[in-house]
Amino acid sequence: MNLIDNYNRKHDYLRISLTDKCNFNCIYCNPKNHMFKDMQKIYLLTFEEIERIVKLFAGKLGFRKVRFTGGEPLVRKDVFNLFEQISHIQKDYGLKLGITTNGSLVENKTDLLKKYGFHNLNISLDTLDRVKFEKITGKNDLEKVMRVINEAEKNGFNPVKVNVVVIKGINNDEILDFINLFKNRNINIRFIEFMPFGSNDWQRNGFISYKEMKKLVERKVKLIPVVNEKNAVAKDFQIAGHLGKVSFITSISEHFCSTCNRVRISSDGKFRVCLFSQGESYVNFKEMFRAGFTDDMIISKLNDAIKTKWGKHPDPEELANAVNNNMMAIGG
Ligand code: SAM
Ligand code: SF4
Repeated sequence: MNLIDNYNRKHDYLRISLTDKCNFNCIYCNPKNHMFKDMQKIYLLTFEEIERIVKLFAGKLGFRKVRFTGGEPLVRKDVFNLFEQISHIQKDYGLKLGITTNGSLVENKTDLLKKYGFHNLNISLDTLDRVKFEKITGKNDLEKVMRVINEAEKNGFNPVKVNVVVIKGINNDEILDFINLFKNRNINIRFIEFMPFGSNDWQRNGFISYKEMKKLVERKVKLIPVVNEKNAVAKDFQIAGHLGKVSFITSISEHFCSTCNRVRISSDGKFRVCLFSQGESYVNFKEMFRAGFTDDMIISKLNDAIKTKWGKHPDPEELANAVNNNMMAIGG
């Protein structure tokens, strides 16, 4: 059984937000620290519930990829206990496990991630300048995040993926610095277009498109396109003479909705068919578990929900005014 929507898109990639909390306040994601205010009201999925969900998606719906995200997934207490449990499911189904983290809470633990079967590690890093790092995130953790990138590389994450959200007037002047810094490293730098959410003060004049970024990079280096897997969201390029690749995530200027294979579960257990879905999701894992739903009953609900997925997300200006689509709770 597969989750297939009205546009014949088959879904096999699940992203789970482990928490809506974060120890950073990135200006493009959590600028007003608004989620902290609501912290007490959110009832997170328990580890047992997350395990049951992963087992159901892998075992009964043919999902092949699961990524943990947030908020910051590593702020979740005892999260490595969850990862240990998930590692059994990973082995049973040959799942590709991934995690996206700001890197500040995983120092000396990337070996454990490897041990628990994580295949993909994405670390967010938007600047190489210490003062700017603090301005963007609210924390003075640049050196630590750099150490974690080195450690992850040594512990076999090949490549480590480094996520850079590019905002005009903030860090677009550093694009080439990133390329130069990682020249001899097996690191995949991923420049991400700045996306609007209802709560992140997105402005058109802060937006810099993939094409503009690429042009800037090509002034200094030659980019050789890499053939992507069918559902890839990144446009990947080998950089001539460099070890690592550079990628662009073009969610806004060239959306990849037509090949989207992703669904998401928010930290409080709501099923989301798109990162930009608006309004409350009516499929709630916590409620279904509490009401004693069997796996088959849950699958029937998921099948109904996937049919509501739109063909493509609305334009940025509309997304910027959306309600109920906070990145941290849904999981970026
Ligand atoms: N806290 C973790 C981290 O920062 O990697 C995981 C959650 S974060 C929401 C997931 C990814 O979304 C990060 O790479 C982050 O840079 C990206 N992100 C957050 N807000 C964004 C925005 N407005 N536009 C584009 N990417 C964004
Ligand atoms: Fe936290 Fe990640 Fe959002 Fe930054 S991007 S505020 S680290 S959740």
